[in-house]
Amino acid sequence: MLAPLTTANRRLGDGPGHSISVALIGGGIGGLAAALSLLRAGIDVHVYEQASSLRDIGAGIQISPNASRILRRIGLADASVVHGVTPLALRQRRWEDGRTLQSTPLGAAVERACGSPYYQAHRADLLHALAHRLPAERLHLGHRLAHIADDGDRVVAHFENGRKAATQALVGADGIHSTVRSLVFGGESARFTGCVAYRGLVAAEELAVLELPLESQLWMGPGKHFVHYFVRDAALLNFVAIVERNSWTRESWTEQAPHSEVLQAFEGWHPQVRSILGAAEEIFLWGLFEHTPMRRWSIGRVTLLGDACHAMLPFLAQGAAQAIEDGAALAECLTNAGRRDVSGCLRAYEALRLPRTSRVQAASRDNMSRFHLPEGPMQRERDVQIRNAATDWFLHAMDWVYGHDAGVLD
Ligand SMILES: Cc1cc2nc3c(=O)[nH]c(=O)nc-3n(C[C@H](O)[C@H](O)[C@H](O)COP(=O)(O)OP(=O)(O)OC[C@H]3O[C@@H](n4cnc5c(N)ncnc54)[C@H](O)[C@@H]3O)c2cc1C
Repeated sequence: MLAPLTTANRRLGDGPGHSISVALIGGGIGGLAAALSLLRAGIDVHVYEQASSLRDIGAGIQISPNASRILRRIGLADASVVHGVTPLALRQRRWEDGRTLQSTPLGAAVERACGSPYYQAHRADLLHALAHRLPAERLHLGHRLAHIADDGDRVVAHFENGRKAATQALVGADGIHSTVRSLVFGGESARFTGCVAYRGLVAAEELAVLELPLESQLWMGPGKHFVHYFVRDAALLNFVAIVERNSWTRESWTEQAPHSEVLQAFEGWHPQVRSILGAAEEIFLWGLFEHTPMRRWSIGRVTLLGDACHAMLPFLAQGAAQAIEDGAALAECLTNAGRRDVSGCLRAYEALRLPRTSRVQAASRDNMSRFHLPEGPMQRERDVQIRNAATDWFLHAMDWVYGHDAGVLD
C-alpha cells in the first residue's frame, strides 16, 4: 500500500507560511506526477481535474529511466508498485519475415547503465498509483477550467462548476487540447501528424501458443510499424499498430475500429503480428496529433507542462516521460526562486525545459520516416545501422534521453 505524501514526509522549503501556492489544471499522468514533485518540494499544490473520476485509456505505457528516476523520488519505488513488467530486451524486427535486426538488453543492463529501471505498465495502474500518493484533499475532481484572471499578485482559476481558486502560480497540465494554452496563448490547435494508432490489450493466455519472450518488440515495415510488450504483471499484452494516413476526418479523437480494418492494413505482415491483432477483443483507433515547438510557454504567473506545450509523436515513448520531467524541473525552479519572483522562476523553468522537449519532439518525428522506410536501398542502409548499434534504442545512443536527471538543476 502506498502512503500519501504528507507534511510529515515532504521537504518543506522555508516553512508553511512561506510556501508558494500552485493550481495545477489537469489530473493526467503529467499533472499528478508534477503535483507530487511540487508537494515533495514543500509547495502548496492543488490539482483540478475536469473528470468526475480518474481514469485512463486501456493501454500500456513505457517508463524509461529518465522518468522512473523521478517516480522513485515521489514514492513509486519500482515497477511492482504499478504492476509493471521489466522487459529483458528490446528486439527490432522486419515486418514480413520477422528477422531480428538487433536485440538491445534492457532489464538489469539498463538499470546498471542509467541507475534507474525501464519498465512497462498499464496506464490506469500508473495513474492510480500517482493519485494514491496525493493527499485526497489536494485533488479536486469535477473541476473543468473555464477561464483565468491574472491580477498581478494572484492568478484566479474559474471553473465551470462556479468554484474558483486564487494562487501564486497556475500550471496548465491539461493535455494536447489544453484550455490553459488556448486562453493564454490563443490560436494554434494540434496538427494531425499523418499517422494513426490502433491500440489494444490481449490476455497473455490467449497468446500462449506464440511463446512470446518477456521483451518489447518493434516491427518495422513500409509506412507502418507495430510495437508490443507485456503489462499488468505480464497478464496482458499491449500493442500499438501505427499506420500512415493522409488525413483524420473522424469527429472524435479516438474510436473503436473493426478487426477487418487493421488486419487489412497489416496484410502480408508476419503471422505473429497478425495473430496478436486477431486476438484483441477491442481495438481502438487514435489520430496522432502534435504541436510544433512553442517559442515560449510561460506568461506572468501561468505556465504549461506535458502535452499542453509539447505534444509529440509517441515514437520515442517519451510524451509522458517528458511531462514527468517537467514537473520535477518546475519543483526545483520554484523552490530555488522562492515566492518573491514567481514569474521569473516560471520563465527559468521554460528556458530549462523548452530546448530539451523540442529536441525530443524532433527525434520522435525522425523515427517516423526511419521506421517506415519503403523497401529499397535506404531501408537496407537503416538495417545495417541498426545491426551496428548506431541508432536509437541502444543505451549509448539514448543516453541523452535516459541519462538526464530533470530534478537536478545545472
Ligand atoms: C499511442 C501512444 C502511445 C504512447 N506511449 C507512450 C509511452 O510509452 N511512454 C510515454 O512516456 N508516453 C507515451 N505516450 C504519450 C503520453 O500518453 C502523453 O504524452 C501523456 O499522457 C501526456 O500527459 P499529460 O498529463 O500532459 O496529458 P493528459 O494525459 O492528456 O492529461 C490531461 C488531463 O487534463 C484534463 N483536462 C483537460 N482539460 C481540462 C480542463 N479544462 N480543466 C480541468 N482538467 C482538464 C484531462 O481530463 C486529463 O485528465 C503515448 C501516446 C500515444 C498516443
